[in-house]
Amino acid sequence: MSIAISTREAAADARRADEALVCVGCDARQPLCRPILRGRGPARPFDLHRCGACGLVQQYPRYSAGELAKLYGRDYYVFEESEEDRWARAVQQYVIHLLPHETRTAKRLLDVGCALGHLAALAQRRGWRVTGVDISATAVSRASVQFKIDARAGTLENHLRTLPPFDAIMLGDVIEHVARPVEFLSRVRALLAPGGIVVIDTPNWESRWRKIGRTSWLGLNRYHVNLFEPRTIRDALARAGFADVSVRSYTNHRYETWASRPEVQALIAWLPEALHWRAQKLLASYSGFGRWSGLRRVKPRTLDEARARVSDFAHYRLDGVPKLTRDNLAVTARVSAPRP
Ligand SMILES: [Zn+2]
Repeated sequence: MSIAISTREAAADARRADEALVCVGCDARQPLCRPILRGRGPARPFDLHRCGACGLVQQYPRYSAGELAKLYGRDYYVFEESEEDRWARAVQQYVIHLLPHETRTAKRLLDVGCALGHLAALAQRRGWRVTGVDISATAVSRASVQFKIDARAGTLENHLRTLPPFDAIMLGDVIEHVARPVEFLSRVRALLAPGGIVVIDTPNWESRWRKIGRTSWLGLNRYHVNLFEPRTIRDALARAGFADVSVRSYTNHRYETWASRPEVQALIAWLPEALHWRAQKLLASYSGFGRWSGLRRVKPRTLDEARARVSDFAHYRLDGVPKLTRDNLAVTARVSAPRP
């Protein structure tokens, strides 16, 4: 009898052990508690948990290799976005992430997740020697044909052996998709030349809009398996051997106004039709504001126009923001000196 009980207990223990959350940020093993947020996915909801040790917010259960292949298998990108929107976003990302690192000599830049290559093309035109990598073969072939970029299909891991050292590596909307972010950042570090920098753009879990919008927040979707905030991105970079970490936050120009916020739309969705219409009108009347309103009003239509527009923001500085509560984190870190 006692043997039977202990066998049952062992089986229960094994089940509990299966349900432990092993953090992908710090490897701490902890019992699986209730999720801090249940996101809405098209096929099934996804649960976000916060690591009790390091605080990293991560999806659990995690995707199996097969599920991941399915998730990204068909062309994952939405190709419908207009050229103007792509250029406007490229200008904003360039101004925030790369303009501060321009020099007279051509530096080598790797754009991981280069998609159709708009940011990479803009960087190339501004004097960088650019290589792009993207999981979508369709996107990569379009980027190389349209913009003459050295763009390669696959994951970063597929190309580790053939890539040269870089002065800067851009991870725009990448790190939140990566299953094991610290290992990934270590591989990025190995590709950097001495003194090289990594530049990261990722949703900010500390975003004010995340707290207001909860499940409607635009940073949430089933592809985002890890969500960082200033503290957790600093920790991940330190663990991967980076130093001189700088963290700032900003808002995608498209979502700078209340009218454009999915969180606000979710809040007013329940209003009766007449009131809803008035609310929309009121919101739209405030749409001319924000630091990037000029970029929204007149969007660049070509690479040349995009290049010219970067100069409009030559004096743009992200500092002066007292709290890091905007939607996106803008992070840079340097390869730390090798240990003696
Ligand atoms: Zn952790």
